[in-house]
Amino acid sequence: MPSTKRDFYEVLGVARTATDEELKKAYRKLAVKYHPDKNPGSKEAEERFKELGEAYGVLSDPQKRAAFDQYGTAAFDPRARANGAGGGGGDPFDIFRQAFGGRGGGGGGDFFDQFFGGEAEESSGGRGEDLRYDLELTLEEAFNGVEKEIRFTKPMTCEGCAGAGAEKGSKVVRCPQCAGRGRVVTSRGIFSIQQTCPRCQGAGESIEKPCRTCGGEGRRNQSTSVRIRIPAGVDTGVRLRSAGNGAAGVRGGTNGDLHVVLSVKQHSLFNRDGDDLLCEVPISFVQAALGGEVDVPTMTGKARISVPNGTQSGTKFRLKGRGVKNVQGYGTGDLIVRVNVEIPQKLNAQQRAALEGFARVCDESVNPQAKGFFDRAKEFFG
Ligand SMILES: [Zn+2]
Ligand SMILES: [Zn+2]
Repeated sequence: MPSTKRDFYEVLGVARTATDEELKKAYRKLAVKYHPDKNPGSKEAEERFKELGEAYGVLSDPQKRAAFDQYGTAAFDPRARANGAGGGGGDPFDIFRQAFGGRGGGGGGDFFDQFFGGEAEESSGGRGEDLRYDLELTLEEAFNGVEKEIRFTKPMTCEGCAGAGAEKGSKVVRCPQCAGRGRVVTSRGIFSIQQTCPRCQGAGESIEKPCRTCGGEGRRNQSTSVRIRIPAGVDTGVRLRSAGNGAAGVRGGTNGDLHVVLSVKQHSLFNRDGDDLLCEVPISFVQAALGGEVDVPTMTGKARISVPNGTQSGTKFRLKGRGVKNVQGYGTGDLIVRVNVEIPQKLNAQQRAALEGFARVCDESVNPQAKGFFDRAKEFFG
């Protein structure tokens, strides 16, 4: 038994960028070849079969794969398992059954999803992936604008090899299998079939000795932070692009972008309607009947509105320009105050007596709506 484990990608013979589908295909092919049933009594085949199961068990699990990408086989060494890096391995027969039986819907998924709670967009060539970061703001932050430092983990250029993917002193050479073409031609009878070179996965070059820090990818996951300036007036769903702050490019490729997707938390006093703010303010039925000045909150402090006598529940008052600044600079919204007349509850004897006194001096003219309604009802019944 070798004392150090082989790289799991190497075990499966796939590139570090292999998709779930490619991993599965590679694993199936090799697992069938080295299955103990097909190689009775072969110790070597048995070892290979176990090794394949372990490699596939790790790489087919997005979280374990990310850990492997970051820490290498050390993360799955049984001796290191005690310090919580997460177990690899698993029963090789179980893994074999899973790969053949299919994992059902919802399997796989991209590991960036796991880290960033969002989609990782397709990268073209050596360009790094675009990343998504979901950022929640308070209404105050959205109202005033804010600068935020966000921390996250992303693939960054490996400092061990400066992104080249090669160990010091080793160089990138033309792939010997395809002579740099990235494709190989095999003949099947009278046909020749061209396919992607299995050795370099179409890159046309291979590394003599892959960098030990990053396993040859030229980048590895590292924690980083970015300062984001958020303009005043943003709302839920606004997406800010931070160019070049996504995943590092692969071997000299350009960096992807970081997309910061904003959501604004519910506020205890204000609701948002575009650039307008809505605030529901309870007033007493005495204030509503007699009219008067009412203090209402705004985002920048208190304001006073005058409520005329006889104000009904649901009446709206518009405070011009006290809403949210339009994020594209088209003026500022309004604050709309909707008064809600509160009917007194839990009256004591004195309060009750006062209201009964009030009722005795009332006539129907103080409730014109009720009078109109009952007049119509009387008409209706003939
Ligand atoms: Zn090649
Ligand atoms: Zn490296």
